[in-house]
Amino acid sequence: MPLVSRHLLGPGPTNPYPEATAGLAAPLLGHLDPGFLRVMDETCAMLREVWQTDNARTLPLSATGSAGMEAAFVNTVGEGDVVVVAVNGLFGERMCEVARRCGAEVVRVEHEWGQPVDVERVAAAHPAPTVVAIVHAETSTGVRSDVAALGRLKGEALLLVDAVTSIGGIELRADEWGVDIGYAGTQKCLGVPPGLAPFTISDRAFARRVETPRSWYLDLGLLGGYVGGTTGGARTYHHTAPTAMVASLHGGLRRILAEGLDAVWARHERAGRRLQEGLQELGLELFAAEGHRLPELTTVRVPDGVDAAAVRGELLTRYGIEIGAGAGRYADTVWRIGLMGPNADDDSVALVLAALRDVLRR
Ligand SMILES: *Cc1c(COP(=O)(O)O)cnc(C)c1O
Repeated sequence: MPLVSRHLLGPGPTNPYPEATAGLAAPLLGHLDPGFLRVMDETCAMLREVWQTDNARTLPLSATGSAGMEAAFVNTVGEGDVVVVAVNGLFGERMCEVARRCGAEVVRVEHEWGQPVDVERVAAAHPAPTVVAIVHAETSTGVRSDVAALGRLKGEALLLVDAVTSIGGIELRADEWGVDIGYAGTQKCLGVPPGLAPFTISDRAFARRVETPRSWYLDLGLLGGYVGGTTGGARTYHHTAPTAMVASLHGGLRRILAEGLDAVWARHERAGRRLQEGLQELGLELFAAEGHRLPELTTVRVPDGVDAAAVRGELLTRYGIEIGAGAGRYADTVWRIGLMGPNADDDSVALVLAALRDVLRR
């Protein structure tokens, strides 16, 4: 296999923090080894910090962000329950499909792609939903939505939040904002390879969960017996925890908390703003609505007459830079540039701007 290294400046995965890479190479432990259980406990404690929550049930699920989405719905939505979903991009769309498969009556609240969620319209969409779902950072469009505002309007409904691209990148305060169920991924701003889904659920939501969810693997009631924190010590085997991945997440989280959550958010903010200014100086037009742009994921319109895929190919072969195509029907008209985790820095901004300028000139 050729050994290549890439600047991963797309919608994820990003290049990992060195501490996350080191975690992968540490001596492997068994999933019931006391040493590993300590790593798991510390990981859950650090996850509470990055989620900004006190929820006892905060843990890394053993699969990618999409499994977090599945777990969120399958544990809280039963046959005939009403689920209101804010749809302003690909991941909102996917939530509708996952909820539908759980037997939900799905109320979609449509938005134009590139626009933030209109939380008042979402809150007014149904008088008494079981769950209201929103994507905090829509990676498909580069837009941030106001989760805190929806939290104030949610009423009796459970607030379910996709924080895959926001966690470890932009301000996220699960408890303060009234998030009942949240899921995330490791390969975006947490700067850890793909493979785990940080998950959190409030006591209120856990008490209202589906008793026997249709997924055995993602049944939070069963998982609690292994991950601990809720059963007072005894750890029973449920599935083999991916110990190397958990060690990697542990390394990434330690790095983030050592830098400080506020400092990490500020670093992403600064890098994203510089990139967006630089792209506009190159004469390019940004896609996401102004005032709602994510710093960690920038969407930019492909200029008329330019072959979007050819430019991405040149960036990869000449510079070793991966950027993303647009999502869905924007595949040929939008590029997505990520500055996540360790790549949220001046060097990455300078590199991608210089490379893009060069490739566009050819
Ligand atoms: C990447 C992403 C997902 C899916 O995560 P996977 O790790 O690809 O399964 C879900 N939601 C959002 C907002 C994402 O960016």
